[in-house]
Amino acid sequence: MKKRLLWQIFPSYLVITLLALIAFAINVSFLIDSLFISQTRQTLEVRAQLAREVMETSIDAMNLAHIDAACKKLGQETKTRITVIESSGRVLGESDRDPQTMESHLMRPEVQQALKEQVGFNVRPSATLEQRMMYVAVPVLRNNQVVAVVRTSIPLIEIQHTLSALTHSVVRYGIIIVLVLAVVSLWYSWELSRPLVLLQKGAQEFAKGRLTHKLDASGKGEIAELAKTMNMMAEELDRRIQSTVRQQNQQQAMFTAMLEGVIAFDISGKCLTLNKAAAKMLGLDASKSVGRTAGELIRNSELQLFIQNALQSIQPTEQFILMSEPGGQESNIQASASPLLDNLSDNMGSLIVLNDMTRIYRLEQVRRDFVANVSHELKTPITSIHGFIETLLDGAVDNPENVKRFLNIVARQTDRLNSIIEDLLLLCELEQQDETVRVPRQVCIIRDILNSAVELCRHKADERTIQLDVECPPDLKSNVNASLLEQAVLNLADNAVKYSNPGGKVIISAGTEQNNLVIRVQDFGCGIASEHQSRIFERFYRVDKARSRQMGGTGLGLAIVKHIAQYHQGTIRVESAIGKGSTFILSLPMSL
Ligand code: ADP
Repeated sequence: MKKRLLWQIFPSYLVITLLALIAFAINVSFLIDSLFISQTRQTLEVRAQLAREVMETSIDAMNLAHIDAACKKLGQETKTRITVIESSGRVLGESDRDPQTMESHLMRPEVQQALKEQVGFNVRPSATLEQRMMYVAVPVLRNNQVVAVVRTSIPLIEIQHTLSALTHSVVRYGIIIVLVLAVVSLWYSWELSRPLVLLQKGAQEFAKGRLTHKLDASGKGEIAELAKTMNMMAEELDRRIQSTVRQQNQQQAMFTAMLEGVIAFDISGKCLTLNKAAAKMLGLDASKSVGRTAGELIRNSELQLFIQNALQSIQPTEQFILMSEPGGQESNIQASASPLLDNLSDNMGSLIVLNDMTRIYRLEQVRRDFVANVSHELKTPITSIHGFIETLLDGAVDNPENVKRFLNIVARQTDRLNSIIEDLLLLCELEQQDETVRVPRQVCIIRDILNSAVELCRHKADERTIQLDVECPPDLKSNVNASLLEQAVLNLADNAVKYSNPGGKVIISAGTEQNNLVIRVQDFGCGIASEHQSRIFERFYRVDKARSRQMGGTGLGLAIVKHIAQYHQGTIRVESAIGKGSTFILSLPMSL
């Protein structure tokens, strides 16, 4: 590119220089030419006048021999051809030839002019000498009458030789000047093109997106000003591009982070863009989905139809769609479509937002189940209490034994109601606490917590002759909420006692594993079948309802333990085998 610009400027300089030089040379050669001609003409005139003076008397006397001899002598001395011609045209004397043999010279143009008493001049090929000659003729007057003409002439070939020698030297110097000028103009062209080439290179850098590149704007003049302006333009462009990219990144990040699935289609039904959530919900690869139609991307026919309708409408639409996930599970999707309008409010596609409502639906279901369960759990003791009171009112009150028995049953059912309500209240309290609010904790000696929980169920264990063993290092400490942890261990130990066979043993042990406080409550009782193991932590879930009720269980004990574990960012799990017993493992992180 540098060459191109240089070679654009340089030849024009060279051509201009050459033309100027050629014009100058031509002009000079013309000038020299005319200078030589006029000088030669003057010389010939002077010689003719001198010859006239020399031969005046001989001409007057018409002494032809003298005239001819003078012509020859003067002609030899001055290297000029001298001819004396009578007014009649007869040649009286001639330096180069014998006048007798020469024809009449009357009609020669220079002679004709001289006969008119002027200085005659002519340039032509000589008929006598057969070469190009310059002639000058002066009249010889007697009594104001032209009696003869003295003519001098020289062959122009000599002048031409001198002129061509001169021209050669002009051309030689001209070539030297041209060469010098060519070098100078090459250097000048290079100097002129260099900043432009640098500008052009800089502009190429800008075009490649390297807008932080700086053009050399030092120096003065238009090119430095242009470089400054281009630098400013690049800075401004860079600033704007960066802000656009930043905005785009922010929007992209928001788009990607959205929990709702967003997918846009153009009017021909081809996917323009989709976010991560949409790709996940529809089981698509986001990078391969753009440019494909809804029909190719979406398997669910209901959603396909919804998108087709949305593309034909400019009204926002909404629909609940049941979709089956790859794992066979079903999800409830709320699909809403809004038209994508261009500047002229023409429909150019549709934006589909997919909201996964499955979790909300499931929570709603859990809530409904919970209400039903609570009602059912409360109804059972209340119905029982109601039944016994009616029996008493119906006359059983007369039998003191019955009264005592019935009132004992009523008291037991009331206790049951009380424990259900207490457990529910505890669960409520645990749930109401925001998970982000940290449960108050302090460093506690774990063995103390285990002992105090064991003491609370010692009575029940003794009743069933069940041995309660605590295995815990006395110095084991952890940052926990003591009363909640005691409640959790109590619930687990209480269950272990309840579901152990009389005369059995329950081991409550604690230790550390991988920076976790791990509390194990192990019994050797009835055990839990594997299909129930994942569900026993749900509220009101019982493996054996009758046995649980008989043992005074509420079905809420393990749900409470699970909540307490969660509030300590920990976990609870069970390992159990039918007939061999169960081990409940409560694991809480220690570095809280
Ligand atoms: P409940 O008050 O009925 O004991 P929980 O929530 O404490 O309620 O326990 C839920 C169910 O899990 C119980 O009904 C029982 O069937 C089973 N279960 C809990 N602990 C044990 C255990 N140690 N051995 C056998 N089954 C257990």
